[in-house]
Amino acid sequence: MKRLIIIIILLIPVFGIWLARGQDLQFFRESRRFHMAPRQHDRIPYYSLRDVSRIFALPRQERSENELLLRGPRGSVTFFKDKAEIRVNGEAVPLSQPVWRRRGDDWYVTLDFFDKALPRIVGVYVNRKSATTFELLPLPAAVEVKVQISLFPDHTRVMLEPSQPVDFQVREVGVAVEIVAANRRMHVAVPSSMPKQGFLGSLVFDSSGNGMLRAEKGPAFQRRREQTLDDPFRKIIDFYGPPAMPATPPPLPAPGTAQVPVLPPVPASPGISSPSFQPQKFVRRPNQNVVVLDSGHGGSDLGAHLSTELLEKDLTVRLARQIKTEIEASSPYKVVITRELDTAMGILQRTAIANSYHAEIFVSLHFGGSYDPSMRGAFVYFYSETGREGKQEEKSSADEATPAPADLKPWVSAQLSLIPRSQALAARLQAKLNQVFGTPDTQVGSNQFLVLQGCLSPAVILEAGYLTNFEDAMFLADATNVKKVAHAIALGILDFLRMK
Ligand SMILES: [Zn+2]
Repeated sequence: MKRLIIIIILLIPVFGIWLARGQDLQFFRESRRFHMAPRQHDRIPYYSLRDVSRIFALPRQERSENELLLRGPRGSVTFFKDKAEIRVNGEAVPLSQPVWRRRGDDWYVTLDFFDKALPRIVGVYVNRKSATTFELLPLPAAVEVKVQISLFPDHTRVMLEPSQPVDFQVREVGVAVEIVAANRRMHVAVPSSMPKQGFLGSLVFDSSGNGMLRAEKGPAFQRRREQTLDDPFRKIIDFYGPPAMPATPPPLPAPGTAQVPVLPPVPASPGISSPSFQPQKFVRRPNQNVVVLDSGHGGSDLGAHLSTELLEKDLTVRLARQIKTEIEASSPYKVVITRELDTAMGILQRTAIANSYHAEIFVSLHFGGSYDPSMRGAFVYFYSETGREGKQEEKSSADEATPAPADLKPWVSAQLSLIPRSQALAARLQAKLNQVFGTPDTQVGSNQFLVLQGCLSPAVILEAGYLTNFEDAMFLADATNVKKVAHAIALGILDFLRMK
């Protein structure tokens, strides 16, 4: 009898609340749905945490007038009265609206709580069907996503490499591009220091719900371009700015070579010691009297063009050969061209060739492409650390352990001490090219270009005219004019080499 009374007393509150709230709270185990009516506060719908704790059978503990803790099978969440921040498993999670609590009444939260916190403490995903109807879904499988950012003269590339192929969904929402994985929870490791060049702003991973990567457009952003690659599966999102727009994206570093460049077979040249190449670190041996010219693009990467008659990838080789002829005819310097065949070549491979030959200088040859057909003339760029946010290279423990020769440099900081000399080279080339193109006011530019970053010699990228500009394209279609451009570049290079 006594036991029965206790059971009845225990059941009263449960059924009492359930019945008293009537239509407000219903849970249908079969369909895994529940109805929960919100309460309006400041015209915003708020949901009762008492209802939530009943549906999910979460023990709740009011720690004080200002603090409430809900414990779930996978963790706990703490609410603070009037604060728009909760703690999920000890981690601060912002909510869109403060937690609301009236004296003696329940605690209330806004809808985003169901996305941002509930799945992490109950292990199910709550899908909202309407303002009052919710559906419980099992949490989808998780996928780890590696992010790599690289800079190109006209775009910033975000490369996502998931631990297994996933269907990435990319949508533009106002100033941001949002990336989610269909039917997957995403864990994304965003690089801690992010290079910037104005096309891509911040890159932030939001772990609420199934996880979302949010890329904010930079001030110079114009458009984006996406592609999916296999082996390994990668999703690439390019953020383009205004100045140059190649018809096809530049080649990707081959899989696995992104950090450790691989030296391509280099033809043996008389009088030049065989190239020695160590991934990440280089010893520079000067006075080899070699100039390395990089013929941009190649293979399926056509580069910029106005018509199929005049492709950037062909013109860069033509220009490189012409400059080589000029320099070798009038100086003791030997010229090595990174690519003479119509094949794709990774960005870092190009720099690696320059370093392996201990080049005196490195010039990456390009022609511009732009949406703006009036954009014309030559532009020369040198490397700068723009957007590194003052973070200097961190020494790895390996660096500390083995005393390195004074001239052994990590790849990422190779170009740093050479910036003033690269700038001087850029200025010299810009001046010479301005004479050819009749553009007296054009100044050199700088940015964190990947192809220049690891270079152990003064290094520049140049765009010798715009193939998307009718005037420039007509000019460059004439072989004698390409010779003029080559002559100007050869003079600029030799001037610089004499001056040093
Ligand atoms: Zn190019």
